[in-house]
Amino acid sequence: MEAIWRPCLSPNGICTRKSGRPFHQNVHLAVGSRSTRFASSRAAAAAASGSEFDVVVVGTGIIGLTIANRFLTSSDLSVAVVDSRVPCSGATGAGQGYIWMGHKKPGSELWQLAMRSKRLWEELAETIRDQGSDPLHVLGWKRTGSLLVGRSSEELESLKERVVSLKNAGLRAEYLRGNSLRSEEPALGEVGGAALVLDDCQLDAHLTVEFILKGNRSFGLQGRYAEFFNDPVVSLCRSESSGEVEGVQTSGNILKARRAVVVAAGAWSRALMRSLLTGSNSMLDIPVKPRKGHLLIIENFNKLQLNHGVMEVGYIDHQIATQAPGSSASEPPEHEQSFSSISMTATIDMFGNLVLGSSRQFTGFNTEVDQSIVNLIWRRAREFFPVLKGSPLDLCGNKSIRIGLRPYMDGGKPIISNIPGLPTVFLATGHEGGGLCMALGTAEMVCDMVLGNPGKVDWAPFSVQERYLRLLHVAELYKWKFRNMK
Ligand SMILES: Cc1cc2nc3c(=O)[nH]c(=O)nc-3n(C[C@H](O)[C@H](O)[C@H](O)COP(=O)(O)OP(=O)(O)OC[C@H]3O[C@@H](n4cnc5c(N)ncnc54)[C@H](O)[C@@H]3O)c2cc1C
Repeated sequence: MEAIWRPCLSPNGICTRKSGRPFHQNVHLAVGSRSTRFASSRAAAAAASGSEFDVVVVGTGIIGLTIANRFLTSSDLSVAVVDSRVPCSGATGAGQGYIWMGHKKPGSELWQLAMRSKRLWEELAETIRDQGSDPLHVLGWKRTGSLLVGRSSEELESLKERVVSLKNAGLRAEYLRGNSLRSEEPALGEVGGAALVLDDCQLDAHLTVEFILKGNRSFGLQGRYAEFFNDPVVSLCRSESSGEVEGVQTSGNILKARRAVVVAAGAWSRALMRSLLTGSNSMLDIPVKPRKGHLLIIENFNKLQLNHGVMEVGYIDHQIATQAPGSSASEPPEHEQSFSSISMTATIDMFGNLVLGSSRQFTGFNTEVDQSIVNLIWRRAREFFPVLKGSPLDLCGNKSIRIGLRPYMDGGKPIISNIPGLPTVFLATGHEGGGLCMALGTAEMVCDMVLGNPGKVDWAPFSVQERYLRLLHVAELYKWKFRNMK
């Protein structure tokens, strides 16, 4: 029987920890992100038998937190989460929040995962509603539908084809132009045509993380949950006799993991995996790169009203575009040139703020605001929404910028997998611009892998074996030859 994801709505959360530092210390959030209550000031006695757990999850972005939640709600395992900072301090805190299928390709390897994940988000919203709360207030959940808009004749042709394939995949989609488009979204200028996907939704990343954390913390009362913030993981702990991974060493703690260590450290996963694999003879290198994104938020901007989330069709190419010409997937990010692209996305969040995106850049781990990028985002939005033309950005009232480092992988596909040779270590990262959308499906997949359950979607496209094993074999062969030549 299929496991149903039951969120824990009880507000009696308890937050347990063993780190020597207080939670409220060093709370650095993505630039311009809202203040959070994630850094709890409540420190209860550590539960889950000292610092021994069944599962240790590294990283408390949306991926790590939903994985922890899934273990807590669908098994009786105990879970610790650990982060070098606090929840939402990575890409998650910057996410725009669209849970959209309109810009994804039916039949692609990502499609099944994204569809499954979206269904789980919808079930969660439904459960919240059944329990008497409004998912809008709890998660910022809105079923606005999405409009993918095009201007050139090629774009319009591609949108028509997209609508056909979305319908064939079972979604409610329509191709709109002229008056029908104008009446759906009056704020749009002369854009030619659009694909409307009626059931696309959005959420608020901060509210959602807050809700998931609260659910996780309620398991602290049963001694099944603990969290360690501002406490980076530095290495794996291995058994001296068998060499098996038995947990992680953080800057201040040793956290034992009886069943699994799950690494969900977003854009930092490559460097972290390298240090975790030091001394293990493994040449595995997962080429996750930080892909910087800016969002512009204009508070209570009533000049532009939107009925739907809106995205330009060019976003799809920007998202899958690989990288700066001349750089390669194996190059470390610090050697990369800056390479920027801007594509228009526009949503109204649950607070009535206009949220405009977004940029994509390979600039290593830099999270400084680049005003020229912000200006380009604004200029791009004005091309689609004429009402913005008469409003200089400087005069638009309270604004903020959110910046996040998307975990980018070549091909736009995440890695959700165990690590060859380390049967208790799992990796879940590389969701680039779709981590919020794909979080619940990813969490389910990781739990099924650890618990030995059959998968709801095919795991193969996301596995290390499938994508890197051949490369690894070649690399190991070279290493072996090199050793024998010496
Ligand atoms: C501008 C922008 C807009 C976006 N909009 C959307 C959207 O609308 N819809 C959507 O689906 N997705 C969107 N995304 C993408 C989405 O935000 C990401 O895919 C997702 O947040 C990735 O989550 P994560 O948990 O993998 O990584 P993160 O949120 O980056 O979390 C990784 C965590 O690992 C921690 N960590 C790192 N190193 C260590 C260590 N050594 N020890 C312990 N912890 C460590 C970090 O501190 C961090 O908290 C957007 C992203 C950006 C930047």
